[in-house]
Amino acid sequence: MKRQIAVIVEHTGNRILPVTYESLSFAMELGERLGLNLSVLILGNSIEAMAKQLAERTGSHVTGIKGAQLESYNGEAYKGAIVEILEAFDPSYICMPHTATGFDLAPRIAFFLNASCVTSVEKIRVREGNIRFIRSMFNGKLHAEMAPATAKAVLTILPGAWPSLEIHPGSKGSVHIIRTNFSPIASQTLEIKESRKEKLNLGDADVIISAGRGIRKPANLHLLEELAKIFPKSVLGSSKAACDLGWLGYQHQIGITGQTVSPRLYIACGISGAVQHISGMRGSQTIIGINSDPDASIFNAADYGIVEDLETFIPTLLEEFRHFSESS
Ligand SMILES: Cc1cc2nc3c(=O)[nH]c(=O)nc-3n(C[C@H](O)[C@H](O)[C@H](O)COP(=O)(O)OP(=O)(O)OC[C@H]3O[C@@H](n4cnc5c(N)ncnc54)[C@H](O)[C@@H]3O)c2cc1C
Repeated sequence: MKRQIAVIVEHTGNRILPVTYESLSFAMELGERLGLNLSVLILGNSIEAMAKQLAERTGSHVTGIKGAQLESYNGEAYKGAIVEILEAFDPSYICMPHTATGFDLAPRIAFFLNASCVTSVEKIRVREGNIRFIRSMFNGKLHAEMAPATAKAVLTILPGAWPSLEIHPGSKGSVHIIRTNFSPIASQTLEIKESRKEKLNLGDADVIISAGRGIRKPANLHLLEELAKIFPKSVLGSSKAACDLGWLGYQHQIGITGQTVSPRLYIACGISGAVQHISGMRGSQTIIGINSDPDASIFNAADYGIVEDLETFIPTLLEEFRHFSESS
């Protein structure tokens, strides 16, 4: 029997998350290179319709693991249910999206299987016939090339690194649903509540001035607000770090877990340029990075790079602009 590559599906509210289709795209590519059969695993309680949809889109075999205790994600329950059935098809690679769920589940499964665990994979490279996985480190300043040291590997795939899987034109695939009674002992997921987000349509702005951790303190947001006032149709964006610090609400966040934007002008202020941020703004027409570190990876994405302390650079720029508008 051909060796297998398995993809674990991420879904919420009976909807398959788009990142799953990116992981499937990755798995198809790796499968083609290594001659592996793709199989898809979906866990939950009401999974029949999603399993059918996946079989039709991938043309592959979909195994559904069904149980009331899998209704909401619980690391212990998911791991228990997955390893119960893994022996049946013994995959060489198990892949899932690099999300909060993925990076909770992947090491649990890897530990149980005594497998390597490579997270946040963003490229595949073949070196002397051997497969290597590339991932960013230190917010994109370095790239590591990882080679699993075991026969099996569990991988998490960076959202945005592979395109969404196209509909497979060939066979319709097949579905097999298995019931599990595996119950978690140590923990229980009681409820998952969606955060109430204030709506902010970053997509309508011509200019986005984005704040990162490098603005240092929320009081400095006024510098960015002043800069934004220069441009009509401008709005403040943010990196995840600045949102996590509570400096701006999550409705401002740009990146793989925030919004994807493509304004005419994007000014990144004190943002290092982590791949998770870049994937949300790389479609901008012109990108300017203001960063005091000349080696910051934002400069790899930027059309113009300003190596300055933003606390001195932005007031100087505003002052120059004031002089210019008064004299013209
Ligand atoms: C699953 C997952 C999803 C994620 N999703 C997102 C996402 O959607 N969006 C996102 O943004 N991140 C996301 N991240 C986080 C991401 O990996 C980075 O941690 C984050 O983008 C870093 O934010 P930052 O650039 O503001 O902060 P830092 O990386 O801390 O960078 C701060 C920068 O400011 C510069 N600086 C410091 N002081 C000054 C100064 N005075 N003047 C000028 N420059 C200065 C520094 O040189 C540095 O480059 C995600 C991570 C994971 C694991």
